[in-house]
Amino acid sequence: MSVLSGMLYCADCGQKMYLCRCTTMKQAEYFNCSSYRKKKKRTCSSHQITVHAVEEMIKNDLQFTIRYANENKEQFLSILASRSEAKSKRELKASLKEIEESEARIKTLDKIIQNLYEDKVSGKISEERYLKMSENYENEQGLLIGKVSILKTDIEKSKNKTDNITKFVSLVDKYSDFEELTPEILRAFIDKVLIYEKEKIDGYYKHTIEIIYNFVGAVEIPDFD
Ligand SMILES: [Zn+2]
Repeated sequence: MSVLSGMLYCADCGQKMYLCRCTTMKQAEYFNCSSYRKKKKRTCSSHQITVHAVEEMIKNDLQFTIRYANENKEQFLSILASRSEAKSKRELKASLKEIEESEARIKTLDKIIQNLYEDKVSGKISEERYLKMSENYENEQGLLIGKVSILKTDIEKSKNKTDNITKFVSLVDKYSDFEELTPEILRAFIDKVLIYEKEKIDGYYKHTIEIIYNFVGAVEIPDFD
């Protein structure tokens, strides 16, 4: 499935997973880490997983998540909300502090530049010295103004987190009882999927994947019946 092949990433090196279509010896289609393929197997391990296995795991996770969301609506919403709030509150506090400090420094720099100008006019410092010093202060001020503007934009963006939860919940409602994993469903729900290297446990290979959903990221659903 071509939609899937753009979504899978190696959990260890971060590169895309490469779809191998060579189906000799009745081998199923499978994905390999692309660093493993390109660099002659030195930089990363294979992370090999069949297309079928990934599809099944995504389908199970999605159905599990949707079932939890439908049967435990309140808890599901609070899982999504508490996660994004915890993060955004912490970030918000740090950003606001940085904005406050930067704006104070910008004001101070205004005064310093003004004083320098007066010193130049009254002849306390030379024209050359004035130009050199004021240039430095103006550069510093320019950087701070840029930083404040970026921080303010980020704060605006984080306000959209509530909208994102709403968007995710409406997806859950829309595809509440899907049977088949279609490209449409994959595109609607999934941002990317991280593929971990398989582990051998009690003689069996165990695959682990991590699904990063659109709008809400990785969702940790508690065990439930
Ligand atoms: Zn890799």
